[in-house]
Amino acid sequence: MENIGLYLHIPFCSSKCPYCDFYSFRSDREFISRYVDKMNAEIIKKSGEINCKADTLYIGGGTPSLLGFSQIAQLVSTAKSRFLTRDSEITLECNPYGVTEEFFNKISECGVNRISLGLQSANDEERRKLGRRAGCEDVKRAIYYAQKSGIENISLDVMLGIPESTLDSLEKTLEFCVSRGVPHISCYMLKIEENTPFFKMRERLNLPDDDAVADMYLFACEYLESHGIKQYEISNFSVEGRESRHNLKYWRCEEYLGIGASAHSFLNGKRFYCKNDAEGFVKEPRYVFDGDGGSFEEFAMLKLRLTEGVLESEVKERFGFKIPEKLRLGAEKFIDLGLVCADENSLRLTRKGFLLSNSILAEIL
Ligand code: SF4
Repeated sequence: MENIGLYLHIPFCSSKCPYCDFYSFRSDREFISRYVDKMNAEIIKKSGEINCKADTLYIGGGTPSLLGFSQIAQLVSTAKSRFLTRDSEITLECNPYGVTEEFFNKISECGVNRISLGLQSANDEERRKLGRRAGCEDVKRAIYYAQKSGIENISLDVMLGIPESTLDSLEKTLEFCVSRGVPHISCYMLKIEENTPFFKMRERLNLPDDDAVADMYLFACEYLESHGIKQYEISNFSVEGRESRHNLKYWRCEEYLGIGASAHSFLNGKRFYCKNDAEGFVKEPRYVFDGDGGSFEEFAMLKLRLTEGVLESEVKERFGFKIPEKLRLGAEKFIDLGLVCADENSLRLTRKGFLLSNSILAEIL
């Protein structure tokens, strides 16, 4: 079995951002500590059931940096002893608010070698609208401390389509990212989800319209590329060699094990998940079967998120056949519209195609 990815979900946040519909909530120290203990026990249990190694660990949330340093060190150390190879990529999602130099020194010592920081915007007013407590200075400081501790592999999350944002304000945010020397940037579009405060107040938010957000996306792609940070996935950009190894496993339809409430897994061709129920996880983790995974359609759907697209050679190797003619024929009209590119070796979406990926994928797959 190939090396898998290991994902740990920490569902705790100090407050709820008004646009967020992820499974996350405030909790007390005592419950967090029981949750982390269960997570350590579950890593050990799973390692006894699954005979494989992992070469990536991603601790996501929620806000994993809310855990105490020793809890993070304990999780990393359990994962290392049970699953991780020596050269593993170990990522921790961090909230820039309140993280100290000591925090970064300690997580670096225990083996964390990549962090993902929520910047969203370098404009404090825009960050405030998103309910973010940290200001741009906090983000700057967090990046500085991380780099000083030896963690150079830093990813910043940028949000497109923030209320009242403009191309100018986005340019300032991207300038900020480039000036800090971070090698990876994720640019996500704000989506107004039902059951969030933003949904209730959507008419008053003064959101940029769809065309303006599409322009922001294309601008971000070009701006980052002109600064050596190349797009490799619909929403992800990096300098060469700094792509997220963990997330590439998802997009390449490779296997991973997720531990924690709301974590998803894909192992031995099966997909399964833990419910959004942290109390239930602490009592006894239960996994819900979510169907078989790894069909050609699923593989193609995921691979078309990447700029490399679907390669003829890998389809042959994995499935024993060529990219189906039906798929190539279905893609033809999008080729004429400049949304898909195809040659004898591959099929992939163009940058404009990425903007319409959901409809294109629904039609051709
Ligand atoms: S910090 Fe992230 S996970 Fe937590 S509420 Fe805000 S957006 Fe959601």
